[in-house]
Amino acid sequence: MQVFNDVKEMQNWCLNKKRQGQKIGLVPTMGYLHAGHLSLVKEAGRHCDIVVVSIFVNPTQFGPNEDFDSYPRDVESDRKKLAEEKVDAIFAPSARDMYREGYNSWVELKGEITSKLCGGSREGHFRGVTTVVSKLFNICQPDKAFFGQKDAQQAMIIEKMVQELNFPITIVRVPIVREADGLALSSRNVYLDEEQRRQALVLSRSLQKARQLAEDGERNVSRLKQEIRKMIEAATQANIDYVEIYDAEDLGDVEEIRGSVLIALAVKFGNTRLIDNLIVEV
Ligand code: AMP
Repeated sequence: MQVFNDVKEMQNWCLNKKRQGQKIGLVPTMGYLHAGHLSLVKEAGRHCDIVVVSIFVNPTQFGPNEDFDSYPRDVESDRKKLAEEKVDAIFAPSARDMYREGYNSWVELKGEITSKLCGGSREGHFRGVTTVVSKLFNICQPDKAFFGQKDAQQAMIIEKMVQELNFPITIVRVPIVREADGLALSSRNVYLDEEQRRQALVLSRSLQKARQLAEDGERNVSRLKQEIRKMIEAATQANIDYVEIYDAEDLGDVEEIRGSVLIALAVKFGNTRLIDNLIVEV
């Protein structure tokens, strides 16, 4: 397994592999890897000849009051975990190399898909994401790129960007990996103290409850959102950012549960903002 820090070296290596006819799979991450990331890596190994994992805490997707500085980092432990998987290369560039002085090229999707959910509470976040992912695509030349359903809105946005900007890349979505008790794995879970960690279970539990209600015949979106809110508000340290239900294809508004809908939550515990989601099909 090779580790590249230099953008040009990474790009040359990937272009070379491509010329040899190898299919490249890219797994973009911000590091501090857990079993959720590793399930993307394993999936990439099943699809492609070469697996590249990028580790880059991308400054342009963090707002001024967000956790860029404190975001957990442990490159050495990440390297060990990836060495045990079928990974050919790690790409861990510096922010200075990714965004050279005077940098001013941006990729931005407009409309509901980026303005709702996390786009509403994290201004500029998705512009940072689509910009860095476009750069990673141009550097790593993947045939396929792997994204987690944990960040459902992000995966939708990337799929739309790839389609609209004609990137010759297939996006593969990978299901959410959870702890045994239901909490979705996240690098940010380390911020939680014991009590917050216990209370954070309300995210997956309220989603399950909503699924159950929908399966039992509840079709009214406002009532389902109300039920979820009630459960989350019972957790004393939980501060709801959003509880929403939208069309799972395009985040269009829905009043009734029909077809495939995305139930998405963002909840803060102290300074730690957690997200989770579930797709319900009726
Ligand atoms: P991050 O390092 O948080 O930017 O995540 C990198 C990739 O891993 C994204 O595509 C995430 O959606 C995905 N991911 C993060 N957590 C999970 C999880 N619990 N299950 C599946 N995929 C995940």
